[in-house]
Amino acid sequence: MFIFKTVDDLGAYLQEQKAQGSTIGFIPTMGALHQGHLSLVGTAKQDKMLAVCSIFVNPTQFNNPADLEKYPKTTEQDIEMLTEAGCEVLFLPDEKEVYPGGKTITAPYDLGYLDTVLEGAYRPGHFQGVAQVVDRLLQIVAPDKMYLGQKDFQQCAVLKRLIDTKHPAVALEKVPTVREADGLAMSSRNRRLTEPQRSVAGLIYQCLISIQTKKGMQAFPVVKKECWDILVHKGFKPEYIELADADTLELLPDYDTSRKTVALIAAYIGDIRLIDNLPL
Ligand code: AMP
Repeated sequence: MFIFKTVDDLGAYLQEQKAQGSTIGFIPTMGALHQGHLSLVGTAKQDKMLAVCSIFVNPTQFNNPADLEKYPKTTEQDIEMLTEAGCEVLFLPDEKEVYPGGKTITAPYDLGYLDTVLEGAYRPGHFQGVAQVVDRLLQIVAPDKMYLGQKDFQQCAVLKRLIDTKHPAVALEKVPTVREADGLAMSSRNRRLTEPQRSVAGLIYQCLISIQTKKGMQAFPVVKKECWDILVHKGFKPEYIELADADTLELLPDYDTSRKTVALIAAYIGDIRLIDNLPL
């Protein structure tokens, strides 16, 4: 695997590869890699793309400074995992490479309703930072296709909007969520769970399954209350348990069989915030 730290070096290499007929599959990450990330790399390789992964812990998407400070960094191990997964290129820039003119967002991204609901409501400014960094990375890498995890369902919708408006030549693929044996969605933040926290963390997925199973049998507000109470009883602090339209993320008061819907949960356990979702 080639590792590039500067925009110039990466750009020169990718230009050469493109001239030789390679198509570029891009996997943006913040490192502390796990099997979820590697499944994005694997999907790009199945598509016969030259797999280009980036690792950059983007400061502008952290609305909570403590979360940024505690974000796990495991670069050596990440490099080994990517090499083993057959990733061809790793882009490992520092902040000056990504934001040469400074990291302040001067022109906010028009993300519409997506910026105000669910993660947008609970993490103000988060999606502005996500759009900013991916916009910049897409300028640098200019891939044919970008691979994103369904685990961050709303992020996929935000980045689809970014692509539609600013990078229409880039295709988007959403890769299904990779889970631990008990259903917990893999996440870099899971490394910070204590043993007792980890032992109950699979409950979020159990709640999503119960929301799915009870569709057509019970009203959503009833199911939501049951899930909320179970999570609180086990020591979680839920932020939201919602049903939404899978395309627009419009919140729905109840199950709606006339459209594609998704159930989404965000909950703290201790000071660790976990999110998950399940398309119904
Ligand atoms: P992150 O490093 O958390 O910014 O994630 C980088 C990419 O990996 C994003 O597109 C995530 O949605 C995706 N991802 C994270 N966790 C998982 C998972 N458990 N399964 C599939 N994709 C994931």
